Amino acid sequence: MAAQQAGYAPVLILKEGATETKGRDALRNSIEAARVVSEIVRTSLGPRGMDKMLVDSLGDVTITNDGATMLKQMDVQHPAAKLLVEIAKATDAEVGDGTTTSVVFAGALLSKAQELIDSDVHPTVVVDGYRKASEKAMEILNGIAIKVSPTDREWLRKVALTAMASKVVAQDAEYLSKLVLDSVLQVAEKRDGGYKVDIDSIKVEKKPGGAITDTLFVKGIVIDKEVVHGGMPKKVENAKIALINAPLEIEKPEISAEIRISDPTKMKAFLDEEARILREMVQKIKATGANVVFCQKGIDDLAQHYLAKEGILAVRRVKESDMTRLAKATGGRIVTNIDELSSNDLGYAALVEERKIEEDKWVFVEGCKDPKAVTILVRGGSQRIVDEAERSIHDALMVVKDVVESPAVVGGGGAPEAETAYQLRQWAQTLSGREQLAVLAYANALERIPLTLAENAGMNPLDAKTELAKAHSEGRRWAGVDPFESKVVDMDAKNVYEPLSVKLQVVKAATEAASMILRIDDIIAAKGTSA
Ligand code: ADP
Repeated sequence: MAAQQAGYAPVLILKEGATETKGRDALRNSIEAARVVSEIVRTSLGPRGMDKMLVDSLGDVTITNDGATMLKQMDVQHPAAKLLVEIAKATDAEVGDGTTTSVVFAGALLSKAQELIDSDVHPTVVVDGYRKASEKAMEILNGIAIKVSPTDREWLRKVALTAMASKVVAQDAEYLSKLVLDSVLQVAEKRDGGYKVDIDSIKVEKKPGGAITDTLFVKGIVIDKEVVHGGMPKKVENAKIALINAPLEIEKPEISAEIRISDPTKMKAFLDEEARILREMVQKIKATGANVVFCQKGIDDLAQHYLAKEGILAVRRVKESDMTRLAKATGGRIVTNIDELSSNDLGYAALVEERKIEEDKWVFVEGCKDPKAVTILVRGGSQRIVDEAERSIHDALMVVKDVVESPAVVGGGGAPEAETAYQLRQWAQTLSGREQLAVLAYANALERIPLTLAENAGMNPLDAKTELAKAHSEGRRWAGVDPFESKVVDMDAKNVYEPLSVKLQVVKAATEAASMILRIDDIIAAKGTSA
């Protein structure tokens, strides 16, 4: 459905006509709009979920199973639906996974809320009950989670494989997961008794061509630029690297100026002076012992010539983000004034080399000593394949980072949701009246996750529900849905694990989104907009 809508017209979720809707109508509209978004992504949940074909206004096609990608590209208009999209994006930014799950869960929370409201429970009571239930749910999740060591590759591998299993490149997941682990563990830094991973320190560069298994982990940085001058070396071993954020050019005046030279000898003097300044800049760089220069700004032709004569390899107009990564990888310092450059500022790499990647020439900076920034160079048969591979590598990087930073995991396949729902129902017995109703509704909504996985795998949701309930009442806490075998199994036996932090974020984000929408009782649209 999404494919068709996205293909022929943007997905517009709005109520036409009215500019103001009040009270229960406004609430009902909002719930409905948010549920439509939830319904669209629902069928893509899990490894057996369907892919969506998204077509943007320029006709570009993306085929994906990734909730975050879908939601980013949908043109959602209704404010309540937008809220759901925002929460999904926040989840993506925070933990990098669980986007589809949070939207499906929020949609289920809203459906159940509508049922309660229809039977005369006030929305505020529902919101309060949901808040209590979410706190309890997080407590339960923390209680059932398996605490692991943050650098235990075996656990990290299981989590990475689970994240990639539901994406297009599943068959190459084993190969890619190793690169993902190498990258995250390489850039992880000890902090506050734990680890911190800056995901920006892992550069994911892509180039169609070859196979996915040609994807490379580079212990350093790959820059998608070529060496600036033909006379420069294309390969420097034992590289001492200057990182310069200043132009290797004579700065032009801000205002346009004209220099009138009447005498030809003066013209020569003028040009000689320019050459002298540029030569001096190069001499200063040379004097530090640098044999490689990465410059964030431009390099004048003449300066290039002098650098080449000194046997220095130089690259110009390097992106700021890459400069930062180069500094982290090589241990060098970025200087903004060439006069200040000293040998202490230079970074180190065993090898800097320009290599041909398909039709382009890129510069590889590799063999860095304990680099705090690295590169994954993604290869694959077509642009679409490398794009999708990049997305799944991103997801895997994020979940591995999650576990390195907060070392606890839970089973996948909707097992933690089923277990939490089971324990919430028991806890609900201790509550009374309407609060109990809200907590039970919350538990039912959580259970939608395993049930949706079951549905997407072609199972009968009612049978799955009964089986899951039975398994969890017998103490099988990791009983979840195996979408490949279309049956309820123990996820620990299947090695399907996810970060605890993703589940906590899903609970938090979905509850917040649903509560915000449930508090709406008035939608006022500005003139010219639709709501
Ligand atoms: P999200 O965007 O929420 O991460 P996905 O489409 O990636 O959504 O699906 C994630 C769900 O699929 C999780 O509940 C996860 O446990 C489940 N899942 C992933 N791989 C497996 C597997 N091999 N077996 C069972 N469940 C799996």
